[in-house]
Amino acid sequence: MTQVVVPLSCPEPRFLIERSRKAQAAGADLVEVRMDLCLAEGGVAADLIAALPALALPAIVTLRHAREQGAWDGSEDDRLDLYQRADAAGAAWVDRELVFHAARPWRPQRARLILSSHDFSGPGVNLPGKVAAMRACHADIAKIAVTARDAADLAGVRALIDGRGPVAAMAMGEHGLPSRLLAGAWGSAIVFARLPDDAGSAPGQPTTDDLLGMCRLRAQTPATRVYGVIGSPIAHSLSPLVHNLAFAHHGLDAVYVPFRVEDAAAFWDACGAWIQGLSITIPHKHVLQARMDDLEPLCDLVGAMNTIWRQDGRLTGANTDADAIRRCGERAVGELRGRRALVLGAGGAGRAAVFALKAAGAEVALANRTPARADELAREVGCRAVPWAALPGESFDLLVNMTAVGLKAPADTPWPHAFPSGCGVFDSVYNPLETRLIRDAAAAGHRTVLGLDMFIDQAVGQFHRWTGLRAPAEQMRAACLERLSRR
Ligand code: NAP
Repeated sequence: MTQVVVPLSCPEPRFLIERSRKAQAAGADLVEVRMDLCLAEGGVAADLIAALPALALPAIVTLRHAREQGAWDGSEDDRLDLYQRADAAGAAWVDRELVFHAARPWRPQRARLILSSHDFSGPGVNLPGKVAAMRACHADIAKIAVTARDAADLAGVRALIDGRGPVAAMAMGEHGLPSRLLAGAWGSAIVFARLPDDAGSAPGQPTTDDLLGMCRLRAQTPATRVYGVIGSPIAHSLSPLVHNLAFAHHGLDAVYVPFRVEDAAAFWDACGAWIQGLSITIPHKHVLQARMDDLEPLCDLVGAMNTIWRQDGRLTGANTDADAIRRCGERAVGELRGRRALVLGAGGAGRAAVFALKAAGAEVALANRTPARADELAREVGCRAVPWAALPGESFDLLVNMTAVGLKAPADTPWPHAFPSGCGVFDSVYNPLETRLIRDAAAAGHRTVLGLDMFIDQAVGQFHRWTGLRAPAEQMRAACLERLSRR
């Protein structure tokens, strides 16, 4: 079973003890006392060692050497002396780098031994050889931590956990985060997680809440199905929150993680075999179509894909944004057939909107800040392009904002003009939840639909395609509202 480790680095023993209690309350199994950092911050070795028996959880004691980005730059004699004293004082584990162990082998008397290797600048070299060397030195855990430059690097890390002995394999940085969130499914011996109010000890450590709560590490097994979202950037995504909630709601053995991906084709080639389904967001909505066996008709028509999944050995692609946009339009004005819809924005979302609204029978007009994009898309779809400067004279039943205007900018609006009487307004932007466009429209008495409704709708569509089940939309919405209110 994967053990959860919370790293601690306070120079004051009483704070170490207090933080160890917090780690225990958060559900961790072990703490890692980063003795090198404690000492660098002014801690006294004898006091820190004396505190070990008082910690609320068994401790890994680590004196990470400066050569592997730790703070220890003293002699190896002094380091071994401290390790010996920590061992005698009751450390459960000690962690020492393979290169130093190979040059001068040493075993603790009572504690167990982690041999480790770190690469803070890249995906590492000869990782299987390093694990083999650690095993040859009788390490109780072979620990490899490298830096993922793209999510495709996860494949090499996952392959290290080969079932032939305890391995802790992790990729650092945002691109490597899934290696930590999937530690239970991959069978890693230990995984590091930070307390929510702590910065952690290495780049990309998840919080204990995300690991144990959202991703249900304790329930993960090698049979757990893996889903995720690919995009760049991806840290802001609410998709892991809502899909993990839906999997837990239905008691499904599945987990959903954020994959920060720069090269989608390389990622899919390296990692696709162990992934059951994906959400796809900017900038990858056009890249993976060629790898699908089947495309849903609307996805084919729109030419952008936000969902893929495996079924009966086949890969299918869909565009659930388009369905969600149609439903949001209906919420704003009822039946769309014959209604005049004005779409602002000719990017990926604007493209899905004009196709979806046209397919639903609306009379669509399109405007974009950069007119050439609107002209080209309007020609392709067979709708009217409106010059941005001519917008104040436009009349419509439904206004749809598919631009990024208003995103994290509560004072900005793509429609600073008067609204035609009786129109409905749908803004795809959901951060902030109520944009200025929505506030202006509501104040003028118009029916409004929020971007969060589109987000939940497209996620419900994805979940249904993956599982055949109905996602708990209201719970998902409430979780997003709670998360957005904290931002
Ligand atoms: P995109 O492909 O990058 O397109 C961005 C669009 O915004 C382009 O039309 C761009 O016009 C326009 N734009 C950006 N800044 C502007 C400005 N200052 N004034 C006027 N127009 C501006 O992005 P996308 O995927 O289409 O996403 C667009 C928005 O849709 C996002 O911001 C997001 O909030 C929203 N969205 C919401 C959901 C949801 O589930 N609720 C899903 C997808 C997208 P130019 O062509 O002139 O650059």
